[in-house]
Amino acid sequence: MSEQRVSENAPAIKQRASDEIERRKQELIDLSLRIHATPEIAFQEHKSSAMLADFLEAQGFALERGICEIDTAFRATYGSGEPRIAFVAEYDALPGVGHGCGHNIIGTAAAAAGIALKSLLQEDGGGTVLVIGTPAEEAAGGKVYMVARGAFEGLDCAMMVHPGNRNTFVAYALACLELEIEFRGKEAHAAARPEAGLNALDAMVAAFSNLGLMRQQIRDSARVHGIITEGGQAVNVIPSFTKAKLLIRTEEDEYMDEVLKPKVLACFEGAAQATGCQLIYKWGEESRYKTMRTNMALAEAYRDNVEGLGRTTVMPESKRSMGSTDMGNVSQVVPGIHPAISIAPPDVPIHTEEFRELARSESGHAGLLDGAKALAMTGIDVLLNPDLLKRMKDEFAQTGGRPSDSAG
Ligand SMILES: [Zn+2]
Ligand SMILES: [Zn+2]
Repeated sequence: MSEQRVSENAPAIKQRASDEIERRKQELIDLSLRIHATPEIAFQEHKSSAMLADFLEAQGFALERGICEIDTAFRATYGSGEPRIAFVAEYDALPGVGHGCGHNIIGTAAAAAGIALKSLLQEDGGGTVLVIGTPAEEAAGGKVYMVARGAFEGLDCAMMVHPGNRNTFVAYALACLELEIEFRGKEAHAAARPEAGLNALDAMVAAFSNLGLMRQQIRDSARVHGIITEGGQAVNVIPSFTKAKLLIRTEEDEYMDEVLKPKVLACFEGAAQATGCQLIYKWGEESRYKTMRTNMALAEAYRDNVEGLGRTTVMPESKRSMGSTDMGNVSQVVPGIHPAISIAPPDVPIHTEEFRELARSESGHAGLLDGAKALAMTGIDVLLNPDLLKRMKDEFAQTGGRPSDSAG
């Protein structure tokens, strides 16, 4: 495709991509429903990932399965040369509530956008379209490992669309870090000789009290929340061992490192000193979610495309409205977007049974098709508009690009 010709015909080319998705409507809906009916949790998405990979392979994509040493990750590639445009598929379900986050729509929309873009590309030169299958968004963060293992290197952009209860084009997501805590004390008879013990439960209770007091002195947007997973074995024994798990979240990656980590740790160290117990802790840095850095140039292109389909977009009400996502890690190594497409009334949140049912309803199907079209059309903008590509890259260089291991 010569640049000159296609720029002039961009609306017509977008229409062709949209028609391609419309033509395949029934098979796309069937695929989404099959994934919905086969809910598989983190890293166990064997059937779901195979459904998507087989579908893309049948359409002429070259498939690499089990990439990044993850069985249920894949990469589907078509075409060659630059730009290299990736659509990101998710397909994991939640324990209990199944596809309550609607990842059947994310996976299918990414595949559909890939197929629509492929129909416009030649096999040799002119650009590459990829669909990257990323497991375990809901737990453990498959993309965290895939970023660290280079799955997103050499791309010009990475885009996905998440079903939600609003149409958005900007996403914020908090950095999120896990902390595992153990206190080790000394057992003693709780009535006969309590003075001989070191109470590991007292240490844990004191630490949680410290955290509660600390909350007044941290930024409003920061979050510290946890559970005690082991609190002792018998009522008449001074507990010698307790365990807890916490998540710590911030709006800025730097605030996590420079302020919140030391403050949280001090709460536990103080409790250890006060009780005489030994503190053992482990930060989950290897699975840390980073903040989402929406590439605004790309996000605005997506907004124009999705609004062209008759949807009205809004800005998220608060920066923490979606918690955390491993797409944040992707957005720090390549220009990325994580818009939401509405399939639900505003008062129905994700991770509910009601949302799960919507993810296989007519409004779910409409979100799937519109989301896929908007992604494909945004891919066409990247392909045909060198100015957009330059603005994306300049913005990324200024605000985004940091090496994937910068969090340490
Ligand atoms: Zn979710
Ligand atoms: Zn989700």
